[in-house]
Amino acid sequence: MKQIKVLKGTKDILPQDVETWQFVEDCANKVFSSFGAKEIRTPIIEATELFARGVGNTTDIVNKEMYTFEKSDRSITLRPENTAGVVRSYIENGMSRLSAPVKLWYHGPMFRYERPQAGRQRQFHQVGVEMFGIDKPTADAEVILMAENFLKSVGLTDLSVEINSLGCPKCRLEYKEKLKNVIRPYLDKLCDDCQERFEKNPLRLLDCKVESCQAIYAKPEIQEVINSDFLCDDCKKHYVELKDYLNKLGIKYSENKLLVRGLDYYTRTVFEIKSNNLGAQNAVCGGGRYDGLVEQLGGEHTPAVGFAMGMERLISLLPERKQTISDGFIVSNDMTEAFKLAQELRSQGFNIEMDLANKKFTKQLEKASKSAKYALILGEDEISQNKVSVKNLETSQQQTVDRHECSKYLK
Ligand code: ATP
Ligand code: MG
Repeated sequence: MKQIKVLKGTKDILPQDVETWQFVEDCANKVFSSFGAKEIRTPIIEATELFARGVGNTTDIVNKEMYTFEKSDRSITLRPENTAGVVRSYIENGMSRLSAPVKLWYHGPMFRYERPQAGRQRQFHQVGVEMFGIDKPTADAEVILMAENFLKSVGLTDLSVEINSLGCPKCRLEYKEKLKNVIRPYLDKLCDDCQERFEKNPLRLLDCKVESCQAIYAKPEIQEVINSDFLCDDCKKHYVELKDYLNKLGIKYSENKLLVRGLDYYTRTVFEIKSNNLGAQNAVCGGGRYDGLVEQLGGEHTPAVGFAMGMERLISLLPERKQTISDGFIVSNDMTEAFKLAQELRSQGFNIEMDLANKKFTKQLEKASKSAKYALILGEDEISQNKVSVKNLETSQQQTVDRHECSKYLK
């Protein structure tokens, strides 16, 4: 019969790799908890409307990348990101009544119908943080600090932080118009995507990866607008204060005026963390402030800031981990006694395997030496005397000990 294969753009995370994933998830839990953040788990399916309204109709995600299907006359989408879902839950569960800031973190699979390539899958995983209720730059600084601490805790240091401020809807409006005015004369020379973005989401133009577009945006009159200081007084103050905190905290960053991020909902701060060791898809983390989103999704006006990291990209930067092996492997021809000893030791927290195929002693020893630190031998003599022969499989040293004491030798 024809073999069924994994879907294009999706991957199995195999047993030999899962320990790395668990390590990273563990670090996330420890580090984010150290800031008082709580984990939240929201559904993978949501109403399509949530993303249309929450991520924005002008984004690539909503326009091209969503997995959407109909069920009982409802349009349902596999979540392409998790900020919208967390915001929905924040509103629905009345978390605005909790004292601010409300700090939430999550990890899990996301789905985007994109062209699969290195660093880009159709099912991928993100770990992220959302912080609600504080409009001051202290919140932006702490969120960036959370990302930094987490990346350091998994062992990554060779990363660069880029920041920018997109201003508020008010000061951005003027900037967008100026940008459109200087770019308009070149409109017919832009790529198809940029021609579409021009009206719908002009900031995204700057984000274009097409060289001929970037050459146009490098023209002096366009650069002048890009580098102009369009922020209103409040937005400028927020940005200056954030940079001040980052400087004082020793967080190295560079400012990138072209950093606009793909999503519609950002206001003021946006940031990315990149690795030089990743090639074309080099962004590990993307985040920013989204003060308008809670209101846009039907809640009260609530300032918020957060980030999401791609776990596959992050994990691809980590060294391979040595697989852990079991503490003990029971070698015996008396299956019942083997089961009993295994259960005793497992209840004390040890990882114990035994031979289930009832092979010869020598075969069992061979298997033990491949999969465990100790062989626990239960021969006829040992069983009759209530003893166990413990063999250290690294040094080959062996000693016969009282059965109730054998756990001491495993430690
Ligand atoms: P990109 O410019 O790479 O498409 P994005 O702006 O779409 O990124 P975000 O929505 O901000 O990405 O997601 C945050 C992070 O999630 C990215 O920095 C990246 O590490 C990861 N990520 C995004 N899309 C994918 C994907 N298709 N496959 C693997 N990781 C992804
Ligand atoms: Mg993308």
